Amino acid sequence: MTILRRGLMLVLSSPSGAGKTTLAKMLLATDDALVSSVSVTTRAARSGEVEGRDYFFITPEKYARLIEEDALLEYAAVHDNGYGTPRAFVRDALTEGRDILFDIDWQGAQQLRHNVPQDLVTVFILPPSADELHRRLNNRGSDTPEVIAARLAKAGHEISHWAEYDYVLVNENPEESANALRGILTAERLKRRRQTGLTDFIRNLNL
Ligand code: 5GP
Repeated sequence: MTILRRGLMLVLSSPSGAGKTTLAKMLLATDDALVSSVSVTTRAARSGEVEGRDYFFITPEKYARLIEEDALLEYAAVHDNGYGTPRAFVRDALTEGRDILFDIDWQGAQQLRHNVPQDLVTVFILPPSADELHRRLNNRGSDTPEVIAARLAKAGHEISHWAEYDYVLVNENPEESANALRGILTAERLKRRRQTGLTDFIRNLNL
């Protein structure tokens, strides 16, 4: 029995290296109702990244044009590059009852909180310790020492926004964290206002 419902927007934010990307992949692999929002970015692709799957890699000129055309639901500069969420994809997925996963920073989450508060569920992911954050960033292998230093310098600032989020998760163990996120999704999907088909369902119960 499926009751018609409106999709939700699940936002994961964290400093680089807290494990957000791994958790996002784990959720997407086990949840058919969840799709990923693919952002645009002006940064260069890292090795292994695929156009249209990880990001749409665009020029600064195209990025400026998308902002001008109001085609981005939110956008922000992160580590000197432009990032943004294409608006049309989100609108269609929500209406079709699909849930959308966002890997965006605190600036993007703030804009969504303002623009689409009803559809939003936000989770902040923390590393278990500063040492672990250093270790994960250094092990990534794809970034230069300068890039790693810049990401560490920004981690404290990103973390300072933890209290703006609905849920906060310390990511010690990816399996446990992914399960916690699945629990959040289950509960949020059952929120009465998201179950748009309830009135019909109850009418059809005919009691
Ligand atoms: P990376 O370059 O490592 O893929 O991402 C750097 C940061 O940009 C991450 O914190 C990520 O969450 C954020 N980010 C990625 N896409 C978007 C987006 O569309 N909007 C915003 N506001 N941040 C984004």
